[in-house]
Amino acid sequence: MKIICIGRNYIEHAKELSNPVPSKPVVFMKPPSALLVNGKPFYHPAFSSDLHFELEVVLNICKNGKSVQPEFADSYYEEVSLGIDFTARDVQQELKKKGHPWEIAKAFDNSAVLGKFVLLERVSRKGNIEFLLKKNGETVQHGHTRDMIFSFNQLIVYVSKYFKLQQGDLIYTGTPSGVGPVKPGDLLEGFIFTKSGEQEQLLRCEVK
Ligand code: MG
Repeated sequence: MKIICIGRNYIEHAKELSNPVPSKPVVFMKPPSALLVNGKPFYHPAFSSDLHFELEVVLNICKNGKSVQPEFADSYYEEVSLGIDFTARDVQQELKKKGHPWEIAKAFDNSAVLGKFVLLERVSRKGNIEFLLKKNGETVQHGHTRDMIFSFNQLIVYVSKYFKLQQGDLIYTGTPSGVGPVKPGDLLEGFIFTKSGEQEQLLRCEVK
C-alpha cells in the first residue's frame, strides 16, 4: 500500500503559500507508517514548531492499473474519504529553500490522517464534492473539488504513468486554502456534504 499525495492542486492554496500554480501535478509520497486511522490521537512531533493541517479529499484505489487511459480513469475509485496531510511547515520551508526532498516535513509517522470512506455517488453533486474542516468547532477550510487544478481522473492518468496503482493505495488530492497551525489540545473534524446537502462527519483527530 502506498500513499500518493498531490501538492498545490488548488489555486488559492498555491497563492497563500506564495507558490507558482503548477502546469503538471506536484506528486510526493508517504510510507504506510504515516497512516493514522480515524479517531486515534495525533502526537505533535517535537521537531516542528509550525505544524500545519491540510484537509484533502482522499481516493481509495479499488483495482490495479498502469498507464491508465483517461476514459477508464473513473473506474479506479468508488469510495472517497477525507484526510489530513500534516505538514511541518517550518521544516518544509528549509527544504524548499535548498531544493531538497520534502519527506521529513511531510511523510513522518502519523502524518496522513484518514477518515471513514463513503461511496462517491453519495457525496458527489454534479461532479463536485464539498467538504470542510473545523478546528475546535470553527470552520477553517471549506473546499469544492471543482476548484482543483487537476481533476481526480487527470491525477489517476498522470500518477499511473509513473507508479503502478494497486488496490488499497490512497491518493490525497490536495488541499484548498485556509491551511494553518495546530497545537496540542486542538480538535480537528472533517465533514463532507452528502447529495442531500447534509454534513456528514468522516474524520476526527485530537492533537496531543
Ligand atoms: Mg497537502
